Amino acid sequence: MRVGTEPVFAPFEFPKEGSKDLTGFDIELIEALGKKMGYKVEIVSMGFDALIPALNSGNIDVVAAGMSINEERQKAVTFSEPYYTSGLIVMVNKDNNEVKSVKDLEGKRIACQIGTTGENKSRTVEGAKVKAFNTQDEASLELKNGGADAVIGDAPVIEYYMTKAGKDFAKTVGERMEAEPYGIAVKKGSKLAGDLNKALAELKKSGEYDKLYTKWFGEKK
Ligand code: GLN
Repeated sequence: MRVGTEPVFAPFEFPKEGSKDLTGFDIELIEALGKKMGYKVEIVSMGFDALIPALNSGNIDVVAAGMSINEERQKAVTFSEPYYTSGLIVMVNKDNNEVKSVKDLEGKRIACQIGTTGENKSRTVEGAKVKAFNTQDEASLELKNGGADAVIGDAPVIEYYMTKAGKDFAKTVGERMEAEPYGIAVKKGSKLAGDLNKALAELKKSGEYDKLYTKWFGEKK
C-alpha cells in the first residue's frame, strides 16, 4: 500500500532524528492499519497540494497526512471514518498584545500552508494579506522573521511546535476553531475505504489505537 504524506507535520508525520524515515501518529497508525489489512506499507513524501492529484492519478493508494475531511475534498476523493479530531488555531509573536483572536486579524498579514484548511480560514479574514507556504514550518518562520503578523494552522501541530522551536518566540491566542476530523483519503469508490474502516475499528477495539493516541498526545481530554 503506497501511502502519500507531507512530511513536515509533527507530531503526525516528520523525520525521525538523524534519519530520512518518517515517524508520527499518522505513520504509526497507517503502518498498524496496513499490517491488519495484510499490506506492506510504503511511505511516499510530497507537497500537501500534490496528494489528492497523486491519489487520483494512481501514484499512491492512500493519503495519511492529517487531512481534514471537508465537502470540497469529498467531491474528489473518498475518506475513511474520522480517526482524529483536530481544529485550527492562531499563533502570533510572544510580544504581540494586540491580537487576541482571529477577529483581530482583519487587514493583517497571515501566514499559512498551501492548500490547507488553515489557508481557507485565512482567506475568510477581511482585508488580510494571505501568504501561503509549502510547509507549516515555513509559515511559522515567516512569523518569526517578521513577514507575517500571525499564522493560522492545525492546532495540534502548532501546539506541538510551541513545545519545540515555537516556545522561544511565539504563543497561541484564542480558542481552537472549526473542529476538523482527519480522515484517510482513497481514490473515489476504492474498496480500500471499507477495508481501512474495518481495520480502524479493530485497532480501536483491541486498544492499539488508544495506545498510539496516548503515546503521541497524552491522555485523551
Ligand atoms: N488539516 C489541514 C488540512 O487538511 C492541514 C493538513 C496538513 O497540512 N498536512 O488542510
